[in-house]
Order: sequence, then structure tokens, then C-alpha cells
Amino acid sequence: MTITLALSKGRIFEETLPLLTETGIQTTEDPETSRKLILATRRPDVRVVLVRAADVPTYVQYGGADLGVAGLDVLLEHAAQWDGSGAPGLYQPLDLKLARCRMSVAVRDDFDYASAVRQGSRIRVATKYTQTARRHFADKGVHVDLIKLYGSMELAPLTGLADAIVDLVSTGGTLKANHLVEVERIMDVSARLVANQAALKLKREPLRGLIESFAAAVRQR
Ligand code: ADP
Ligand code: MG
Repeated sequence: MTITLALSKGRIFEETLPLLTETGIQTTEDPETSRKLILATRRPDVRVVLVRAADVPTYVQYGGADLGVAGLDVLLEHAAQWDGSGAPGLYQPLDLKLARCRMSVAVRDDFDYASAVRQGSRIRVATKYTQTARRHFADKGVHVDLIKLYGSMELAPLTGLADAIVDLVSTGGTLKANHLVEVERIMDVSARLVANQAALKLKREPLRGLIESFAAAVRQR
């Protein structure tokens, strides 16, 4: 019975690597140099598939992978497609407490966000996280026009595309370098282990074992 774990290259893979080592499932090749999309691991019954960060929940929900690692940012944006009830078949067993950052609202340092909100102006907000942003501003009663972007959100307020952005912040260095300031913190974000609900029944023993060893590795850090 093979177990498939979906990971994305870059930050998620790098930060998950110590956990893979501790649970005995480190990949036999480096994803940054290999061209393969399916990597073998030290355990013959476990393989890793490399997908885009935003595709991890989709792979796990529909059974293309049994397990996956995705940021809470990506998971909430994905879950918003099923208003309120969450993505059916996608179970979130564990906070891995890595790839930690926060999702925030940021504006140009010369933009008076507080008075724009107070006056009830419509604010143009550029973001990759349109669902999460829509919910955040609706809860606050702030009127926004959302503009969907796929990257480099910091550029939007600098070019006049938008008044504000909703993006991930860790040190704040990127914002500062682009003359942006954080004006609202929406939520704390970390990477989560997700599992396919049907696989949890069909592959109960090996999946329980793997999830438990991830949990033990997280507790030890
Ligand atoms: P992509 O560019 O495809 O979104 P990233 O590797 O930049 O992939 O991001 C993957 C995940 O890593 C994000 O979904 C988020 O959970 C987390 N992440 C992104 N940026 C940061 C950051 N600055 N600090 C910590 N974690 C981050
Ligand atoms: Mg990125």
C-alpha cells in the first residue's frame, strides 16, 4: 500500500525537510535539482509528489495524494470554494508550526488607511487571497474592490493599481524595502499537514503511524 505525500518546492519543502528526515521519509533526490515530479523516499512505501503550493489541497482532497503540506493561507483560500463547510474530504490533522508568517493588509506609507476606512471610501485591494480578503473586509464592513494577482503584490500600491494589498508578511523587510506599511493583521499562518479522508480509512494503519511520527517530531522541536 503506497502512501503519497504532496509537497511544494521552495519554502514548504525546505522547512518540511527536517520533519521528513525525522520521520524516515527523506526524498532520495533533491527536488530543486531533479526534474522528476515524483520522488522516492527512504521508505519504499512512501513517495512524494511535487505540485504548486496552491494545488496541494486539491491533490489531497481528490485523492491524488493521501497527505500534503500546505500553508493555512492556501487551505483557507481553497476551503472558501465550499462556503463555510470547508472542502469535503479534506481533513486537517496537524499544525506543523513551520513556514510561520502572518497575513496582513499593507498600504503605501503615505496612504491614510484609517481615514479611508473611517470615511467609508471604496478601497482597491490587490491580492492572491481574494476569498480570505473578501471575508475579512466584509466582517469589518469595509467596502473593497478586489483585484486578483498571482504574485509580487507589493508592486500594486506603488504603481497605482491598488490602494492596499493583502499578503503574507514574516519579517516585514520586503514591505519596508517597497515603502509599504502593515496596517492590519488578518491572521497568523503556519504550514498544516492535511489528509484525504477516504485514505484515512483505507490506509488507516500506515497513515496513522506517519501522522503520529510527524506529531512527535513537531513536539520535539
Ligand atoms: P508560492 O510562491 O507558490 O506561493 P511559496 O514557497 O512562496 O510558494 O509559499 C508557500 C507557502 O509558504 C505559502 O503558502 C505560505 O504558507 C508560506 N509562506 C509564504 N511566504 C512566507 C513567508 N514570508 N514567511 C513564512 N512562510 C511563508
Ligand atoms: Mg512566494
